[in-house]
Amino acid sequence: MTEKIYFRFVFMTILVAMLVTTCGAIAYYTLFEKQVHEDMQVTAQIFKDTEFFQTADISQLENNTKLKDEKLRITLMEWNGTVLFDNTVSAKSMENHGDRPEIIAALENGWGEKIRKSDTLGRVDYYYAIVLNDGRILRISKEVDGLFIVIMAVMPYCGAIIIIVSIIGAVVAKLLTNRLMTPILQVAENIDGEMDAPYPELYPFISKIRKQHDQVLESAQRVRDFSANASHELKTPLTAISGYAQLIQTSELEPDRLQHFSQEIDKNANRLLKLIDDIIELSNLDAGELETQFETVDLYELAKDELEILKINADNRNISLKLEGESTRLLGQRDLLTELIDNLVENSIRYNNPGGHVSVKIFEARGRKQLIVEDDGIGIPSEDFDRIFERFYRVDKSRSKATGGTGLGLSIVKHIVELHDGSIHLESRLGEGTKITVIF
Ligand code: ADP
Repeated sequence: MTEKIYFRFVFMTILVAMLVTTCGAIAYYTLFEKQVHEDMQVTAQIFKDTEFFQTADISQLENNTKLKDEKLRITLMEWNGTVLFDNTVSAKSMENHGDRPEIIAALENGWGEKIRKSDTLGRVDYYYAIVLNDGRILRISKEVDGLFIVIMAVMPYCGAIIIIVSIIGAVVAKLLTNRLMTPILQVAENIDGEMDAPYPELYPFISKIRKQHDQVLESAQRVRDFSANASHELKTPLTAISGYAQLIQTSELEPDRLQHFSQEIDKNANRLLKLIDDIIELSNLDAGELETQFETVDLYELAKDELEILKINADNRNISLKLEGESTRLLGQRDLLTELIDNLVENSIRYNNPGGHVSVKIFEARGRKQLIVEDDGIGIPSEDFDRIFERFYRVDKSRSKATGGTGLGLSIVKHIVELHDGSIHLESRLGEGTKITVIF
């Protein structure tokens, strides 16, 4: 990347240098052409004003050695183009010039000019014709360098400029790329450590990279913790099952002992199944592989059906269930919302005292759909508020296990709420009860 940036810089510098010198050469040639035009115009006007060519005889002109040595080619002709005198060749050998563009123009406007390619490679002939006071036409011409020659002449200077600018460009490019890239490379090397952005433009870049880096580390740590916790949680019921099975195999047991052991095996096997179900559910939610088929769901109807199922459980513990509110529809996933209500109400039943109450309220207020599950059970200590949504976290381990908890229920709830773009709020007082509000 550094090399790429560097070569681009150098390439740009050379390109700019070439462009500038080419434009310079063209500008120089335009000025040069203008200068030639002005020179010719002034010279022709002087010839006209001094009336030298009107007064002199042709033989006088022919014998004038000064005119012969003149660098300009001077041609005198009649108004119709018949050549009377030329200081370079014999006038008689010259054809009629009446059809030459500079002559036609001169007859029309008093003066005319034309640039023609000379025989010599790259040079041009510049012609300027002027009508004299006696009606005859005087034409002067000069062979000058063409654009190509001018450009070729300035080429060595342009080349030198390009080389100097390119060298300066290469050095500056090296310094600039170093200044640009070194901090980025340093940041990349120190992504773990604390390092400030060397220039403000890098702030968003660095904070984003660092955030993503932290997220990757966090998620790797979460996966490690989760695997360790999951193995530990799965091991407990399996050890119990294996222990009871061995006891049954190795000893002669009284029928009631045998029944107790097989009940324990059944209980632990169910616990294992529940754990595996919850783990699968969570990993599906994590992977986002659930069908994201949202449909209109009536929360109130869902809760009504769910409370019907949980009633047996609540009756067994002598806990009353109450549903309040009204039909509240929202766009969501039916199965997940059912599981959310189930987990919350089940917790309120399990972490409650005999004779306790659980109420579920579903309603819509100020455009927000709300689900409130409230109980007057054992409550949660305030220092555990943040942690109870963590995987496998339990306030009261023995109570959770005794009532078939996995420690995953609330993390599944949190996930489902997030998937529905909702928020979850917890209020609880130890010994007084718990209120969980979900807002969609
Ligand atoms: P668990 O399977 O252990 O119930 P959860 O994730 O559902 O796991 O809950 C985490 C912990 O939060 C529980 O172990 C329990 O200690 C506490 N908890 C959850 N709901 C309530 C409640 N309604 N009343 C008291 N404690 C609760």
